[in-house]
Amino acid sequence: MVNEKGNISIQTENIFPIIKKWLYSEKDIFLRELISNASDAISKLKKLADIGEAELPEGYKPRIEVSADKEAGTISISDNGIGMTGDEVKKYINQIAFSGAKDFIEKYKDKTDDQQIIGHFGLGFYSSFMVSSKVRIDTLSYQKGADAVQWESSGDIEYSMTKSDKKDLGTTVTLFISDDSREFLDIWKLREILRKYFAFLQYEIYLTEKNEKKDEKEKDKKEDKPINNTSPLWLKNPRDCTDEEYKSFYHEVFQDFNDPLFWIHINMDYPFNMKGIIYFPKLKHEFETLEGKIKLFYNQVFVADNIKEVIPEFLLLLKGCLDCPDLPLNVSRSFLQNEGYVDKISAHITKKVADKLQLLYKKDKENYEKYWEDINPFVKYGCMRETKFFERVKNIIIYKTINDKYVTQEEYLANSPDKKIYYVNDEKQQAQYIRMFKDNNMDAVILNTMIDTHFISFMEMQEKDVKFLRVDSDIIDNMKDSESAEEDNKKLQEKLEKILKEATGAEKLIVKVEGLKNESTPAVILLSEESRRFREMSRSFGGAFNADMFPNEETLILNSNNKMVKRIADLYDEENRKEDAIFAASHVYDLALLNHRQLEPEAMARFIERSNTLLTRLL
Ligand code: ADP
Repeated sequence: MVNEKGNISIQTENIFPIIKKWLYSEKDIFLRELISNASDAISKLKKLADIGEAELPEGYKPRIEVSADKEAGTISISDNGIGMTGDEVKKYINQIAFSGAKDFIEKYKDKTDDQQIIGHFGLGFYSSFMVSSKVRIDTLSYQKGADAVQWESSGDIEYSMTKSDKKDLGTTVTLFISDDSREFLDIWKLREILRKYFAFLQYEIYLTEKNEKKDEKEKDKKEDKPINNTSPLWLKNPRDCTDEEYKSFYHEVFQDFNDPLFWIHINMDYPFNMKGIIYFPKLKHEFETLEGKIKLFYNQVFVADNIKEVIPEFLLLLKGCLDCPDLPLNVSRSFLQNEGYVDKISAHITKKVADKLQLLYKKDKENYEKYWEDINPFVKYGCMRETKFFERVKNIIIYKTINDKYVTQEEYLANSPDKKIYYVNDEKQQAQYIRMFKDNNMDAVILNTMIDTHFISFMEMQEKDVKFLRVDSDIIDNMKDSESAEEDNKKLQEKLEKILKEATGAEKLIVKVEGLKNESTPAVILLSEESRRFREMSRSFGGAFNADMFPNEETLILNSNNKMVKRIADLYDEENRKEDAIFAASHVYDLALLNHRQLEPEAMARFIERSNTLLTRLL
């Protein structure tokens, strides 16, 4: 070949500074581009061989080699792919690669936010100048009789081409790393980038640390194991995958030593190709699912984690890998959204996840119940975000009851003709109410996670006649003893109200006397569901509303079937016992309050003092 020099293009001056600028946002692009090119070159050669257009060398094994030489300041990327002839170098590198890079920059030069581009694919070969002061290509085409070619450019507008002494098929790109990018010469750094993007590339990648200056023996620290797994589990037929494989794949990819609960193997080919595995992780604590991770791949090349524009939001609570080779990931995210890709992915995955949950519920209810604690935040969040998901799973949303059983809403409502669902959100605080419920053979469900407050409102919106009531709200109708004489209660109420107001000094205290089935309970505090929700809401808005704008309508229910309560009323009229009646009334009130919420500090101090007095009198 005649040595040749030339100019890449007349406007090149503008391009390199812009390419260099990318360095500051996404330094490792160059490696992604060059490895992708190497992988494409191998695919092309294999394809040609398949159709009989090319002959593969004996014992051919696709292979990409990355080596770094710190002393020499070079990184080289070699492939045994299709290679290029001299004419092809001119065409593909001088013209096409250049115009590719130019197009890319034209498109994105005004977009300072690099989030606009999903995979950053397409910057191409010229991204190598982001980290290099000089780039050299040595390439030998598969074509019979082709000469090996060397191309070199220093990142200005000039290139040179000459004969190369490359003997074997394929291409080696050698980067002469510039001073401000020497970090890439570090073998650990290279491994980290390669592992991040190419852990599942279809062709083996080997990493070598070179040292030309050392003696022969130590010259190359060749690794005999590829850095990647060329056949990720998601590509395998689900029927051929074992539980152990799914689990170890999960451990490997997510560095999570816990086993996942279960998983879904996605294998979609219409309207586009998408494969992947989605895992339901085991929660270590309540908020953990919020840190889920869905890794998006493009033909086994990692693109990014948790891309909201491609993956339905509620899935981001789970962990998994999705490979979408048909998605045009070099376009902007808004394009993907407008084209409906997201909707299609979402619809497919939503269906798969719902089907899996249905299957578990029907075939393996025991495990479904066991997993519920871990999966319920996801299911509930999914229902609230995706109507379609809710439609598919609404019949298998289950609730744990105070009797340690699991019921669906339908099952619960079968025993609740008034369509009220009683719930507990703090088992310790509401222990007395739970006891009363149990004594009355009533059931309540436990809804105690962060998401439940919202989920309760959501479920009430879905079925307008169903009402969720906390066990300490408007429950009295179910607790009343039907035989209790209303007239007597009314009289007693007037009297006890007076005593309690005197005892507590609270003018606004609402006192009611009812005959409760449960005789041993002297009093309970009830707070209407509505006013409690208003107060909680105003608190969650960080005091944007004054909580006192909503009246605190705590009602003290005194049980006329309880001996102590009756005694207080009588005692009040007895000679010299009025003080004792007030003392006892204060204590009964505090005990009821304690079962409902925390006492204010002063009330607590008074309560303790009174308890001590009682003990002193007793002993
Ligand atoms: P793109 O890969 O998007 O086409 P590039 O700028 O990366 O753009 O590369 C331009 C062209 O150069 C490629 O399409 C390919 O024909 C050729 N090329 C680049 N790298 C290699 C390689 N390692 N082996 C063979 N051909 C290559």
